[in-house]
Amino acid sequence: MIIRGGRLLDLETRAAPFQDILVADGRIIQVGNPGLDAPATAEAIDAAGLLRHPGLVKAHTHGMFNLCKGMSDRSSLELLLVNAPAMIAQHSAEMKHLSTYLGAVEMLMKGCTACCDLTFGFPFATIDEMVAIGQAYIDAGMRAVVAPSLADRSFYKAIPGLLDHIPSSLKAATAQHGSSSPHDGIRMMGQLLRDWPHERDRVSLGIAPVIPLHCSDGLMTDCADLAREYAVVLHSHVAESKVQAVSSLTAYGNTMTAHLDSLGLLGPNFTVAHGVWLDDDDMRRLADNGSSVAHCAGSNMRLGCGIADARRMIELGVNLAIGTDSANCSDNQNMYEAMRYASMASNVRGPDYRRWLSSPEIIRAATQGGAYALGFGDIGKIAPGYRADIVFIDLNSTNWMPLNDPANQLVLAEDGTGPKHVIVNGAFVVKDRRHRSCNLEDLSVRVEAARERLMELTLPARNVGAALEKIVGDFCIGLARRHYHIERYAAPLGQ
Ligand SMILES: [Zn+2]
Repeated sequence: MIIRGGRLLDLETRAAPFQDILVADGRIIQVGNPGLDAPATAEAIDAAGLLRHPGLVKAHTHGMFNLCKGMSDRSSLELLLVNAPAMIAQHSAEMKHLSTYLGAVEMLMKGCTACCDLTFGFPFATIDEMVAIGQAYIDAGMRAVVAPSLADRSFYKAIPGLLDHIPSSLKAATAQHGSSSPHDGIRMMGQLLRDWPHERDRVSLGIAPVIPLHCSDGLMTDCADLAREYAVVLHSHVAESKVQAVSSLTAYGNTMTAHLDSLGLLGPNFTVAHGVWLDDDDMRRLADNGSSVAHCAGSNMRLGCGIADARRMIELGVNLAIGTDSANCSDNQNMYEAMRYASMASNVRGPDYRRWLSSPEIIRAATQGGAYALGFGDIGKIAPGYRADIVFIDLNSTNWMPLNDPANQLVLAEDGTGPKHVIVNGAFVVKDRRHRSCNLEDLSVRVEAARERLMELTLPARNVGAALEKIVGDFCIGLARRHYHIERYAAPLGQ
């Protein structure tokens, strides 16, 4: 395949010169000036009027919640955790595939070609269902790391003191809140790692102790051992909310990151999702171990978790990547929006504009930074040797008229409507703004039917969630009002 006539985003110069791209066997062979030599047999692709950028790499999402977009208003992370397990526990095998596939199609149509999906774990998915979840990405034509959630402690036991506030009439309903025995979870994860049938450069596995407070130390060290044995990534929600940060001091006598460090979890394969309440020492530990942070500024604002200090992460040497988080707190799966949020969130941290994230820094995080976090060494760039995962933005769009600074416009103007074509591994998955194998009308019928069924199945759980909302809400607001040695809220407490 020889792609001619289009512009190519160049982050170094903030320009978009005309360049040809030669692709063979799914990889980029050469990038060069117009008129690049190509074999006579190469298929010619006309990219006139199009800007090409590397497929965006999303470092954090949850495919299991794609049927839940727009379901909550004014929900904190902790209230989300009250309701979420019951919602996903009711997914049939078909719904698991459907939910994942729906998100994959959305991401591809919005320029994202790879993601890390912290998805159903054990309980709530069998090995066969996990394989089907991986198949959903293959069916959609997307690259992914699928990391099943592992936990052996319920949300109510994870937050010290919370269970004492749950009335006895509701305690039974909270007992099995999405956790499995540590032995069962690790055994299933090991089996999955051994038997995974998918090509690992398309859909690989990761290991996700979901939130450290929800996992015993033994479970987390078992996760680290498995990750070493199978050379896969580790992924966890770390210091996402102030409730987690304060609770870690109570549970561990230390920050969550320092505790993970003491257990040997940090390494180049480790990604912190969120990291809003990381202090300098936490960031240094992550940097010293070559670890990543998946910065999800939109979710952090949506759930009121605060504003992460992404500049400080970069300064101290942490690999910065970008995520949206899931559809029940994002709610679309739009990486352009995630980049824009990362930019805006950085700017409102303070007046020194020299510390704000620049557009090229954000694009690097959303491509190369994500590729590193996912453990895919050959995506995230349009350069010889890299996989041909390429997005073609239509410059005949009002977002791009006029073409001033392509890096700024990708972060600040593009809204997800621009991708005209998307290729993954050198093959078109989106062409002329249509997903090549997905009929959106048919998908909509299946999704609506699943939604109706879920509404019936989850009614009892939603009633329990409603009964618990005020109790959990009040308790967690109290925790979040406690002193912590760093501040990540936009306004001082009490204002
Ligand atoms: Zn998350």
